[in-house]
Amino acid sequence: MIVNIFCNFVAKDISMESNSKFDVVIIGGSYSGLSAALALGRAIRNVLVIDSGKPCNQQTPHSHNFLTQDGNTPANIAALAKKEVMQYPTVQFLDDEVVEVKGENNSFELITASGQQVQARKLLFSTGVKDLMPNLSGFASCWGISVIHCPYCHGYEFKDQITGILANGETAYQMASLIRNWTKQLTVFTNGKSELTESQLAQLAALEVNVVENSLVDIKHVDGYLDALIDSDGTRHLLSALYARPPFEQHCKLPKELGCELNDSGYIQVDEFQKTSVHGVFAAGDNTTRFRAVSWAVASGGKAGAIINHELIDEG
Ligand SMILES: Cc1cc2nc3c(=O)[nH]c(=O)nc-3n(C[C@H](O)[C@H](O)[C@H](O)COP(=O)(O)OP(=O)(O)OC[C@H]3O[C@@H](n4cnc5c(N)ncnc54)[C@H](O)[C@@H]3O)c2cc1C
Repeated sequence: MIVNIFCNFVAKDISMESNSKFDVVIIGGSYSGLSAALALGRAIRNVLVIDSGKPCNQQTPHSHNFLTQDGNTPANIAALAKKEVMQYPTVQFLDDEVVEVKGENNSFELITASGQQVQARKLLFSTGVKDLMPNLSGFASCWGISVIHCPYCHGYEFKDQITGILANGETAYQMASLIRNWTKQLTVFTNGKSELTESQLAQLAALEVNVVENSLVDIKHVDGYLDALIDSDGTRHLLSALYARPPFEQHCKLPKELGCELNDSGYIQVDEFQKTSVHGVFAAGDNTTRFRAVSWAVASGGKAGAIINHELIDEG
């Protein structure tokens, strides 16, 4: 079967025989996957990147704290990366979703949602995580815009502004201590009975951090830019930004189905070389670590690419 693989940047149709065999198939073609593809493509490995086009930061207007791209849009950064990677004829890119993987080291078979079948000697999962939006009106619309996960990524843009933290207990205490470096106008919303200890409450009070225990019922915003939190009493808390750490799940269930171990926090267990517990299967980026940033994703993807190449050399 002949298929067309469209690359947005280098206008080329690539024909791929059914069951084409690649040295490496990279599942997930965002920052970590493209970084691995660059290393492997430059190592003259025959690489296929398959990506379903849903990176976790797609709603955020500007990405920060990544050298040379500070303030650029997430889509632009990904587009630049893809353009660079696709200059290497050793790399092919498929806009598709991998729905099935089976096999073992040096002989994996993958099937995509559109029915393509390919084979690979090695696999890299750079599939990221999916944030699970809480059942709080307005939260999902503001996510990545004014409801933010990380002060290093977005804190500077909200410095000295009235800011909330949606968290409870030890997490709330740790976040408040950190974020107070960016703004002193800080309120912790525990969204129910406080689980902060007496000592933590006293330390927050000394830092002039307010604590609100009432449940939250609504987030008022304009196009994702926060205006106020409404609590169960009907009180309107005016805010510019709200920090939150919603729960997550693996974006892709296939590593677990292949037998890759997940750790207690829900990340794919990898060693220092990005190797999973299944031989020949690697993972990189957000799906492996709570250190969640473009720079970390790029670094781990680049490392995975180099290590995969070494493994292929060692195995002859
Ligand atoms: C709201 C928000 C704002 C952020 N802002 C910043 C910031 O300002 N600066 C910063 O440094 N970091 C920021 N981050 C963190 C940063 O976005 C992540 O660390 C980074 O995107 C992780 O890259 P990744 O390649 O591991 O995963 P992702 O970028 O999430 O990409 C995973 C890719 O895998 C694909 N995929 C998943 N399953 C499959 C499958 N079965 N088949 C094919 N493809 C699949 C997805 O469609 C997706 O394209 C932010 C994160 C969020 C959530």
